[in-house]
Amino acid sequence: MLSTLHTNDAPSTVNRLLNMGIEPFLVASSVNCILAQRLARKVCEDCKERDPEVVAEALVEAGLGAEEAREVTPVKGRGCKTCSDTGYKGRVAVYEVMELKEELKEFVLNGASATELKREAMRLGMTTLRRSSLNKVKEGITTLSEVFRVSAADR
Ligand SMILES: [Zn+2]
Repeated sequence: MLSTLHTNDAPSTVNRLLNMGIEPFLVASSVNCILAQRLARKVCEDCKERDPEVVAEALVEAGLGAEEAREVTPVKGRGCKTCSDTGYKGRVAVYEVMELKEELKEFVLNGASATELKREAMRLGMTTLRRSSLNKVKEGITTLSEVFRVSAADR
């Protein structure tokens, strides 16, 4: 069965289910995978240009590694007829997929917080919403301000 909930990210979905009165053992045994999705605005292709105001330090602060941040060319839309001077045209989905592996099920059973769940999921290799949206900055698809709008910092 597939179901939809409105939460900020994948890990907090577990807390939402628990707050709805569902027993931890039921969540642990019946939830297989949680996918969180947000839509980020895409920079307009017709007026895309380099954004000198976004420096590497800002990208690192947002969560990129120092080395990869240096290789990024941040872009923005200057504004044109195509994008009605907004600098954006269209949207791109960013995802966070949290598979409830055995380790995470244990965390759920032990009453872990959303933060603890997220940390463990990251340790197990989850690509977070923040990381997923930063990847779109690396690819020149969206902006750092969109990253801040659609995702929270990874801690
Ligand atoms: Zn444009």
